[in-house]
Amino acid sequence: MPTTTRFAPSPTGYLHLGHAFAALTAAQAGTQFLLRIEDIDGTRCRPEYAAAIFEDLSWLGLTWEEPVLRQSERLSAYAAALNVLKSRGLLYPCFCTRAEIAEEIARSGDAPNGPDGPRYPGTCRHLSDAERSEKIAAGMPYALRLDAAKAAAAVGPLTFAEHGAGPAGETGRIAVDPGLFGDVVLARKETPSAYHLAVVVDDAFQGVDLVTRGNDLFAAAHIQRVLQALLGLPEPAYAHHRLILDAIGKKFSKRDRAVTLKSLREAGVTPEDIRRRL
Ligand code: GLU
Repeated sequence: MPTTTRFAPSPTGYLHLGHAFAALTAAQAGTQFLLRIEDIDGTRCRPEYAAAIFEDLSWLGLTWEEPVLRQSERLSAYAAALNVLKSRGLLYPCFCTRAEIAEEIARSGDAPNGPDGPRYPGTCRHLSDAERSEKIAAGMPYALRLDAAKAAAAVGPLTFAEHGAGPAGETGRIAVDPGLFGDVVLARKETPSAYHLAVVVDDAFQGVDLVTRGNDLFAAAHIQRVLQALLGLPEPAYAHHRLILDAIGKKFSKRDRAVTLKSLREAGVTPEDIRRRL
């Protein structure tokens, strides 16, 4: 039986009803409950939103283990994980700009789609060592991508355990598709660790053995399970839950001011009202 689960919001806006449902679902998973602030992306995260997360969750009546882990304080752990992957020859530098990738995709006309849009066409995977060194020496900025084919060969067949359900009702043992996201970016100059890498490093570090989150991240479990296997990290179980949708069936976004917990609280809504509504 799993013992530890978490709620891991990014402080890029005020929490809304969808987050309240996610946090309450995780807290009720019957295990030790952790809160993690996923604030690596310095261009989008703001301290006032992090402060509001604590305020909103306390108001909802939730308590969590201290200390709260902040990903912005964990960059050396992500760098160490990147080094493991690099030393296994699984990463390559990608010098493409977004515009170049879009152009290449338009030109080739057959870029398969992954969960985040068209997959990277692999342009920089074919560069020689000399070409890479030359570009790096010239100071060209680059991202580090996982070579999905090499990663798949390195881990062999994998599955993950789904205790909840994916968007199409997927549950039980799910076969991993290591190429689902293509050659995913694991680090960039301005964001030293991508979400997928940080999340597996921290879930393992914190002893999270049940990943509770919305089913919009169900596909992410495929690549995250691959990274766990490559890094020799323990395998958590997953409990993906349904999403709370607005009146027209759309996912709430952080721009929907009317359903932030802050504005609902200020309008006199009580935590009991919220729990009832969810
Ligand atoms: N930080 C992510 C988000 O705000 C959630 C990460 C996770 O639960 O794996 O969407």
